[in-house]
Amino acid sequence: MKRTIEEAFRTPLHFLRSVKRRLRLLVFRLGNLRKEKFECPICHYIGPFEDVNRITGPRKHAACPGCGALERHRHQYLVVRAILDSLDASQMKMLHFAPEDCLKGYFCQRFGSYETADLDMNGVDYHVDLQNLPFPDSTYDLVFASHVMVCIPEDGKAMREIRRILKPNGMAILPDPVSSEITIEYPEPNPYEGYNVRAPGFDYFDRYKLYFSRVEKYSSRSWPEKYQLFEYEDRRRFPSAECPLRPAMTGERHEDVVPICYA
Ligand SMILES: [Zn+2]
Repeated sequence: MKRTIEEAFRTPLHFLRSVKRRLRLLVFRLGNLRKEKFECPICHYIGPFEDVNRITGPRKHAACPGCGALERHRHQYLVVRAILDSLDASQMKMLHFAPEDCLKGYFCQRFGSYETADLDMNGVDYHVDLQNLPFPDSTYDLVFASHVMVCIPEDGKAMREIRRILKPNGMAILPDPVSSEITIEYPEPNPYEGYNVRAPGFDYFDRYKLYFSRVEKYSSRSWPEKYQLFEYEDRRRFPSAECPLRPAMTGERHEDVVPICYA
């Protein structure tokens, strides 16, 4: 069979990338032989996860070194996979806001139609404001927007718009970081917290009930420990100079929540 020039170069390039990735994983494993081992449901890597150091502080056992998926990504993947188990996604249309690289491949493969959107991210299909969407009513079967609401002051407007563009049997998956026991609104976006406009609490997901007929919540506790879906973060140090309104939280192992909002 005749190959195009692009295909001829693509194969060795893919091969080299694969070798580089395997070498990196091997070095990481050798350097972390005594660390606890986990399993990534997305890329099937088994071994220690990487600790990360983010703007709000360090988190242990956070990132899969195979695909880069964080605690919340692995949790969201498990939830979507469980939901799609009983559905024919090849007939479904999905809109993915602020698309995460580690989830894009799976969504693109499973859904008959897969589109991406963001306010200003490069490489998406639509540059749109979630509070004022240009799409007709009842367009999508699934809207996915993770850690997006937490940056929107008038989040009710965004919820109303998402509900509007969902088909009658559609659903929206709208997780936000739980960083407080009870939701605290900030007067302005905080650059030291990724421009978040609030510290969402476990009560935050109740707001979705004003716009959607039913809200179902999945917890990190719903899944086997081997996937490591908890955020190991010392939140006793808040409030801080950079995050003056973020409250302290007890414990160093924090639950992640994935809410499913049904139209
Ligand atoms: Zn992975």
